[in-house]
Amino acid sequence: MRLAKVITITGIVQGVGFRPFVYNLAREQGLGGWVRNDTAGVTLWVEGPSPALAVFERTLATGAPVQAVVFEIAARAVEPRGLEEFEIRKSAEQADQFVPISPEVATCADCVRELFDPADRRYRYSFINCTNCGPRFTIVEDIPYDRPLTTMAPFAMCAQCRAEYDDPGNRRFHAQPNACPVCGPRLELLDQSGNPVPCADVVGAVIERLRQGRIVAIKGLGGYHLACDAQNDKAVKTLRARKFREHKPFALMVADVQAARALGDVDPAGEALLSGTVRPIVLLRRRPDAPVSEAVAPGQMDLGVMLPYTPLHHVLLAEAGMILVMTSGNISDEPIAFRDDEALRRLNGLADYFLVHDRRIHIRTDDSVVRVVADKPLVLRRSRGYAPHPLILPFEFKAPILACGAELKNTFCLTRKRFAFLSHHIGDLENLETIEAFEQGIAHFQRIFNTTPACLAHDHHPEYLATKYALARDDIPRIGVQHHHAHIVGCMGENNVTAPVIGVAFDGTGYGDDGHIWGGEFLVCDDRDYRRAAHLQYVPLPGGAKAIKEPWRMAAVYLHKVFGDGMWDLPLAFVRDLDRARWRLIARMIQQQVNTPQTSSAGRLFDAVSALTGICREAFYEGQAAVELEMAAGDDDRVYEFDSRSEAGKTVVLPDAVIEGIVADLIEGESRGVIAARFHNTVAALIASQCDQLRRETGITTVALSGGCFQNMRLTRRVLALLTANGFSVLTHRHVPPNDGGLSLGQAIVANRRLDTSILNS
Ligand SMILES: [Zn+2]
Ligand SMILES: [Zn+2]
Ligand SMILES: [Zn+2]
Repeated sequence: MRLAKVITITGIVQGVGFRPFVYNLAREQGLGGWVRNDTAGVTLWVEGPSPALAVFERTLATGAPVQAVVFEIAARAVEPRGLEEFEIRKSAEQADQFVPISPEVATCADCVRELFDPADRRYRYSFINCTNCGPRFTIVEDIPYDRPLTTMAPFAMCAQCRAEYDDPGNRRFHAQPNACPVCGPRLELLDQSGNPVPCADVVGAVIERLRQGRIVAIKGLGGYHLACDAQNDKAVKTLRARKFREHKPFALMVADVQAARALGDVDPAGEALLSGTVRPIVLLRRRPDAPVSEAVAPGQMDLGVMLPYTPLHHVLLAEAGMILVMTSGNISDEPIAFRDDEALRRLNGLADYFLVHDRRIHIRTDDSVVRVVADKPLVLRRSRGYAPHPLILPFEFKAPILACGAELKNTFCLTRKRFAFLSHHIGDLENLETIEAFEQGIAHFQRIFNTTPACLAHDHHPEYLATKYALARDDIPRIGVQHHHAHIVGCMGENNVTAPVIGVAFDGTGYGDDGHIWGGEFLVCDDRDYRRAAHLQYVPLPGGAKAIKEPWRMAAVYLHKVFGDGMWDLPLAFVRDLDRARWRLIARMIQQQVNTPQTSSAGRLFDAVSALTGICREAFYEGQAAVELEMAAGDDDRVYEFDSRSEAGKTVVLPDAVIEGIVADLIEGESRGVIAARFHNTVAALIASQCDQLRRETGITTVALSGGCFQNMRLTRRVLALLTANGFSVLTHRHVPPNDGGLSLGQAIVANRRLDTSILNS
C-alpha cells in the first residue's frame, strides 16, 4: 500500500546536515517527496510503500546527524501525490530568522580516513571537513550560516569542492568550510619575529623543532596553543618559566585512547569523552608511571588529556609519535590569543616558532574541561565543542534576557524562547582583554541568534565588572540575583526542575544579601525566591582577597576562634611556623574590622584545613588549597564532630569541633591523608544532616548541589551517597559547570520568573 506523510521536525536541525540525511534516507528506501528548512526547523513530504515508510520514520527518529538536537517529530498522513523522486527544496521564507549555530565538531572518522589515505586529494590536508565535522561557531561572523558570512569567505571553492558542495548525495553538501589543498587555507611556519620559515612540509618542520625541545605556538580552532614535547623536562620547564605559571597544570594531547591510558586511568565514560565529537580536556587520575615531565602538572593527582580534534592535530600527533603539552596561548591570566597579529605580539618571547594559517578565527574559544564523576561527565569549563549549544528548558522565557554572570570563570547567557544560550568560557573579568572579550562575545551572540535582550540579569556584587556592565546599561530593566540562589537555580534548570528544592551552595565567594561574603549556604528555594535556611558560621576574612591567596590566614583565624591565645601553646607545626608579628597585624585588622569582611564560605574552611595540615599555606591559583587537600585524602571513614545552633530563624553550622578534632589528630601524629579524608567525610555529613533537618521542616525531598566545592569529586561522591541512601532525590550539575561558569544560567531563569512583562511594553 502506498502512503504519504508530512513530517515536521523541530529542534537544532539546520546547518547540521539534516536535509542530506533525510534525502539519502528517502532515496535508500525508494521514497519520493521533498525536504526543506523553514521556521519550524525541517519539514518534509515523503511517500511510497508503507514498509519503506516505516523504516524511514524509524531511522529519522534514531539516526539523525550527530550535531542535530531533535525536540519533536510530528507526522500527519496526507493523500499521496504520486511523487517518485526525492528532492531538497529551497528554504521557505523565514519570518523570524533564527538558526541555532552548531559548536565545533572534532574531525569525523570519514575525514580522518581520507586524511591518511595517500590516494585522497586531501591527504594530510589540515583543513579537511564535512557536514559532520569541522569548525562552526569560531568562523561564523553573521547569520544566516552561509559561507560568505564566515571566515571562509575569502576562499573561492575550486570546481571539485564546488561539485561536492552542490551534491545532495555528498558528505560535503552545503558544508560551509569545505576546502582542499587547491582552494582552501594553508599552513605557514613563522619564526619568533614573524618571518616565514621556508619549508616544503610545514608539519614535518614543526615536528622536527618540537623534537629539538622548541616551543611552538600552534593556531587551533578557537585560539593558539603553546606546544612542546611533554617528555622533555627542559622544554616543559622553559615553557613554565616563560608563562609565569608556577603551579597551574598544562594540558596534554596524545594520538589516541591507548596513549591516554599510559598517562591516567581511563574508564568507559572517560574513553567516550576522549574520543567523542567534542574532545574536551579530560581530567584523568594520573598513573604513577605516567611518562611525562614532572613539570607538566606539579603536585597534581590528575592530568588533563585530550585527543586530536582538528586535522592538523591528527597529522601532527600521528607523525610526531610524541606526547605534546598543548596549553592555552597566553601569559598567566590573560585570555588565550586568537588573532594572528595579536598572537605574534602577545606570545612573543613565549614561543620559538608559530604554526599559523590563513583562516581567521572569528571568536575565541578555549578548550573545554571535563572530569568523570560517578561514571558520568561533569563539565568544569564549558567552551569549545559545547558552546553555543543551547540548553533547552521546560518553559519559554517571557522575553529575551541577557544574564551577565560572575567575576571569575565568567560566562554570560542569552535566552530566546525555550533556549538558553550559555556562552563559551570568557575567563576572569580582571583585565582589559577579558572585558573586551566579554563585550564582543555579547555582541556576537546577539547578532548570531538575532536577539536583543529586553532585560538584564546580574549578580549583587557591586564590584563585579559584569555587574557594573549591567548597571551601566540603563536602557532596559535589570534584575539582581543573589549569587548562591543563581547557583542552585542553574542546577535546577539543567535538570528541568522548577519545584522547590533544598539548595546546597558551597563555594568560595558570593555576595550575600546582608553584605557579608557567603559560601556555605543551605537555601530553601524555587526558581524565583529563596530563603537562607542555614549557613556556616561567619568568621573574619582578614585582608579580603589576600586571605584567599594566603590560606594560612584562615587556618590562624579558625585556630584563634577555637583556642584563643591558647593556640600558641598547641604543639603544631603550623603554630611553630606562624609568624607572630604578622599574626598580630592580622589580629588587629580583625579587631578593628579593617578590610575584614565576614564570611560563611565553605571554600575558606577547606583552605583553613589545608593550611593547618601543612598541605597548602599559600595558593597560586584559585582553589589550590582545596584541590591539594582533596588530593591528599586517603582512606578513612571517621567523621569529626560538628554542632549547630539556631540564630534568628536560621541554623548556623559551627565548625569549631571539627577544628578541635583536626588539632587533636595532628597532635596524635595522624597522617595528613587520614585527616583530609576525615574532613571530607565531615563536610559531607554536615551537609546530609542539614538536608535531613530541612526535609523535616519543609517536606521537600529534592536536594540541588551547586557551587565550586562540588568540583571536588570526593566530596560530591560522598554527599551523593549519603543523600541517596537517605531517600533524597539529588540534582547535580553535568553539562553546566558547578563553579561560577554556570552562574549566568541561574541568573537568567530567576530573572525570567521575576520579570514583570507589563513594564517591557511601556
Ligand atoms: Zn568529516
Ligand atoms: Zn577545493
Ligand atoms: Zn560561586
